[in-house]
Amino acid sequence: MNRQTPSPVAIVTGASRGIGAEIARRLAADGYAVAVNYASSASEADLVVAQIVADGGRAVAVKADVASAGDVRRLFEETEASLGRVDVLVNNAGILKTAPLAEHDDELFERTFAINTRGTFNTLREAAARMNDGSRIVNFSSTALALKLPGYAIYNASKAAVEAFTAVFAKELRGRNIRVNAVAPGPVATELFLDGKSEEQIRQFARMPPLERLGEPHDIAAVVAFLAGTQSGWINGQVLRANGGLA
Ligand code: NAP
Repeated sequence: MNRQTPSPVAIVTGASRGIGAEIARRLAADGYAVAVNYASSASEADLVVAQIVADGGRAVAVKADVASAGDVRRLFEETEASLGRVDVLVNNAGILKTAPLAEHDDELFERTFAINTRGTFNTLREAAARMNDGSRIVNFSSTALALKLPGYAIYNASKAAVEAFTAVFAKELRGRNIRVNAVAPGPVATELFLDGKSEEQIRQFARMPPLERLGEPHDIAAVVAFLAGTQSGWINGQVLRANGGLA
């Protein structure tokens, strides 16, 4: 990127680990200045920033709990102050804890919706006021919605809401040339997916897609880079299921 042109700016929520960290590195490699958001993993977020800077990119780590509207406002403010107005928002932060609906406790229900659903709502609302015309938003759903596996009712519900936001918000931004899409990954080898599963369960999931493997964070980062980039200019209000053909 030439020195006269300021870098476009991206916020990636939940970018200290897993898919989000890979998205941050990929967008930085594509020329974005990246705000690496995290909630608690400060040293991991700092490491992602250090990797990006070592590779010649620009990044800052910003602590903010996406479930808090105040934190999200500050996330945008700090990003604008250090990198500039935001061109790409990636709503990647999320949690997955499975339990049969009848055994789901209130605290886990609230936490799942607070982070996955309200977190996305908080950033979308802030984005509407602050993002440049012509910008792009990529939300995170899950292929779990299509699989309808027992234990996933609350998680799937939190992500179904994100799909609903995506379709309607894309229309509400009419006239500003802002595209809003979602990616719905199948199983990806990160802590969120691997935690609490036996080797056999992991092998079973890996055998499910016709491509016969788990997704890797770079598979999803490539889809996000596509949705954030100019090649996807006519894709708006859609959910892209990136899952090796699983569903
Ligand atoms: P992960 O490895 O567990 O990483 C989650 C990231 O989200 C971490 O950086 C974490 O940061 C951050 N985070 C959690 N709560 C947060 C909060 N309240 N505010 C800000 N950041 C928060 O998860 P992942 O597998 O990369 O998942 C990323 C997204 O993909 C999620 O939305 C998930 O639902 C979706 N997804 C994943 C899979 C899969 O198989 N992995 C499949 C489908 C969809 P801290 O550690 O700092 O909290």
